[in-house]
Amino acid sequence: MKPEELIDHILGIAPAWKVTGVTFSRESDRLDITIDFQRGASLPCPVCGASAPVHDTSEEEWRNLNFIQYEAYLHVKVPHVKCPNDGCGLKQVQVPWARAGSGFTRIDKNVPQNPPIKNASCA
Ligand SMILES: [Zn+2]
Repeated sequence: MKPEELIDHILGIAPAWKVTGVTFSRESDRLDITIDFQRGASLPCPVCGASAPVHDTSEEEWRNLNFIQYEAYLHVKVPHVKCPNDGCGLKQVQVPWARAGSGFTRIDKNVPQNPPIKNASCA
């Protein structure tokens, strides 16, 4: 099994999504995972569930501080779909790893990030 397939499996991502790159830095114990979706794919509308064509994408980063004991960052082009049903409009699709308990949180690029505290102790 290739590293990309293993990460696919661990994240439980659907066939429309694909891990396209995995890099690991031993110095910083950091895993960077690039995820993309299949071009031309239709994805479920997050409002009504209808299959809808991808309209455009936005780039997001997601972080997990305890993914197989390493800090993991997902770099993702998240698609927006244009739903054919009235009332839905243009919506960003739900990403599979956003489910409760996955441990991944989206990094808001508008908020300055503090470096993660390692080996913190309660003094
Ligand atoms: Zn819809």
